[in-house]
Amino acid sequence: MSAVPPYLFFRPRVVRTERLSPTLLRVVFGGEELAAVVSGGRDQRFKLFLPQPGQSTPVLPEPLGLDWYADWRALDPAVRGIMRTYTIREARREPAEVDVDFALHGDLGPASRWAQLARPGDEVALLAPVATDNGGVDFQPPKGTDWVLLTADETALPAVAGILEWLPTGTPVKAWIEVAHPDDRIPLATKADADITWLIRGTSPTVLDTLTAATLPEGTPYAWLAGEATTIRALRRHLLHTRTYPRPTITFTGYWRRGSTEDDLLTAEA
Ligand SMILES: Cc1cc2nc3c(=O)[nH]c(=O)nc-3n(C[C@H](O)[C@H](O)[C@H](O)COP(=O)(O)OP(=O)(O)OC[C@H]3O[C@@H](n4cnc5c(N)ncnc54)[C@H](O)[C@@H]3O)c2cc1C
Repeated sequence: MSAVPPYLFFRPRVVRTERLSPTLLRVVFGGEELAAVVSGGRDQRFKLFLPQPGQSTPVLPEPLGLDWYADWRALDPAVRGIMRTYTIREARREPAEVDVDFALHGDLGPASRWAQLARPGDEVALLAPVATDNGGVDFQPPKGTDWVLLTADETALPAVAGILEWLPTGTPVKAWIEVAHPDDRIPLATKADADITWLIRGTSPTVLDTLTAATLPEGTPYAWLAGEATTIRALRRHLLHTRTYPRPTITFTGYWRRGSTEDDLLTAEA
């Protein structure tokens, strides 16, 4: 039996954009082929490829085989499509569309810059899941979890929104979400019993200070931490060493690192 890869490449176009808040911009991608995208929900990740300045569509290796990553790295960095990691906020069939919520951080990075200028018809490429069990969902509370702890910044807010939608009715949740602007406190739909604290950067105490001072529920926790990498590491250390949470009860992901582009992080990993 031949194994079907859980991710495939797509070349959709921007259908529309929607400003969700001062920092968050939803870009809706569309095209019939996107009907094949199957999100695992929660914090489902995918790879986005953007054109370089002056290009109308991102350059990808030909052919796009299982070795696409090595082939992509072998292309000229000034020519190959710019690769970034994002979260599928929602994938729909009719019409076939995928929503991606971009945290705009000014003119600093190509993805943020691209999103701010995105117009209907703009072409991108996605390496997106076509099976629910695709290895790109990190939020996996083990059996026996009594309550869920979430921390996020605006880059992880789309993932938190997906997690809160997915959690079963009545699940106790304590969430700390740090955003840039009071109007970034977007509505979050959930059937969970969620206690959400919004923190405004520069005005409120930091997530670390708030979590350190918090009284947390009894019972077996499952902690999911995402956002700026240095902050996430400090939060994890606090949970491991001060709260003595067992390692398997903590899932942590640096979504970005201050002072490093995503390309820098990939080069450091290689
Ligand atoms: C699994 C996963 C899921 C993600 N999902 C989302 C998502 O749904 N929405 C989303 O907006 N982001 C998401 N991110 C984060 C996103 O990939 C990074 O913010 C990425 O660096 C943006 O690319 P860029 O081209 O704009 O900036 P880069 O070229 O990568 O970086 C340029 C500069 O900007 C800085 N920078 C990057 N992001 C920020 C930021 N948010 N605020 C301030 N400075 C920043 C970097 O430190 C660097 O100095 C996700 C990351 C991961 C790993």
